Amino acid sequence: MRYVPARPPLTGETLDSLSARLRERGEPGFRARQILDWLYKNRVRSWEEMTNLPKPLRFWLAETFELLPAQLVLSRQAEDVTDKLLLELGDRSLIETVIIRAPQEGVGLEHSRKTICISTQVGCAMGCTFCASGLAGLKRDLLAGEIVAQLLQVCYREDARTPRARAELASFDNIVVMGMGEPLANYDATLLALQIVNAEWGLGFGARRITLSTSGLVPKILRLAEEDLRLRLAISLHGATDEVRERIMPVNKAYPLAELIPAIRTFSARHGRMVTLEFILIEGVNDSLEQAGKLRDIALDLHAHVNLIPYNTVAGLEWRRPSLTRQERFAEVLRGARVSVTLRREKGHDIDAACGQLRLRTEREGLPATPVSSRA
Ligand code: SAH
Ligand code: SF4
Repeated sequence: MRYVPARPPLTGETLDSLSARLRERGEPGFRARQILDWLYKNRVRSWEEMTNLPKPLRFWLAETFELLPAQLVLSRQAEDVTDKLLLELGDRSLIETVIIRAPQEGVGLEHSRKTICISTQVGCAMGCTFCASGLAGLKRDLLAGEIVAQLLQVCYREDARTPRARAELASFDNIVVMGMGEPLANYDATLLALQIVNAEWGLGFGARRITLSTSGLVPKILRLAEEDLRLRLAISLHGATDEVRERIMPVNKAYPLAELIPAIRTFSARHGRMVTLEFILIEGVNDSLEQAGKLRDIALDLHAHVNLIPYNTVAGLEWRRPSLTRQERFAEVLRGARVSVTLRREKGHDIDAACGQLRLRTEREGLPATPVSSRA
């Protein structure tokens, strides 16, 4: 399952690792910083544009590193609200990165809340029965450099939207690690990528504005709690009892609620921040008022925020979202107990916004009239 590219991506190097490589070559100490500034601050897309580097060094860099390991092959926009970027990797795997611009009440779209959703694996091994990402299983983990490259592609896209000014990644409100894959199953690469995203010599994006979502790998949650990088945590709960959760999330057999809940408590105690419990509402599965009551108790106990997400239909899967009335009734049980709760009206429903769906469709049906159409 380990993927070793012909040349490692430059986007997977830290200031230290790149400095060490350059030192071996006898380059002066400031070179690594210069190169990373070209990449992250000036956002050039070719070695030739790194004009203050000596030519032999540029040749060596081009032979040694892949500048950008993820290329844009397709983008789809829905009502100017959601942009889905389909990216192709060195081994022709496809991944998705989504930009969500949620308009704020009473202000124009330019003042919308902007979120980027990134992927950490090609496919997913966790096997949640409702999820498009897991349908075909796991193909492979992403490299740290492939995770970082998704954000550079978003930067390029923003630059194109505002041709005169270089749009800063910092103009985004949040990065959510909620695309394809289970980030904690690809722990090291995900953490390294987020360190690069956060670093002042990297993309300089605040860790407190990065949310990592997990299906609940308990030992990894406890490990994450110990990291210096103070990320926000979201847990895909989707069931408020073992019986219901197990039905749709096989991970619950390995890490039942009796283990997951204390791990969440440990994380929030260490971080002093509210954890978010994500709860997809699926008709007839987890949308009963009894489940709402149990979820309320868990949220109160953990002092957690609850994000209710009406299920996004996946082609080929039987699950449906409950009616609006039923969604509201469920939410009321939580609100009534003063649990902090949002009932999400998800964006981009019409372009397969739920994780993994654009890739799945492209792999099934192909990209129309492009050379990548027959790739699996
Ligand atoms: N693997 C991680 C992160 C990626 S999934 C996790 O499971 O948390 C990101 C979120 O999208 C999860 O909460 C997941 O349960 C949710 N999701 C998956 N399929 C969905 C669907 N069809 N409709 C709504 N949400 C979905
Ligand atoms: Fe994987 Fe998350 Fe989808 Fe479950 S919900 S299959 S963990 S991506």
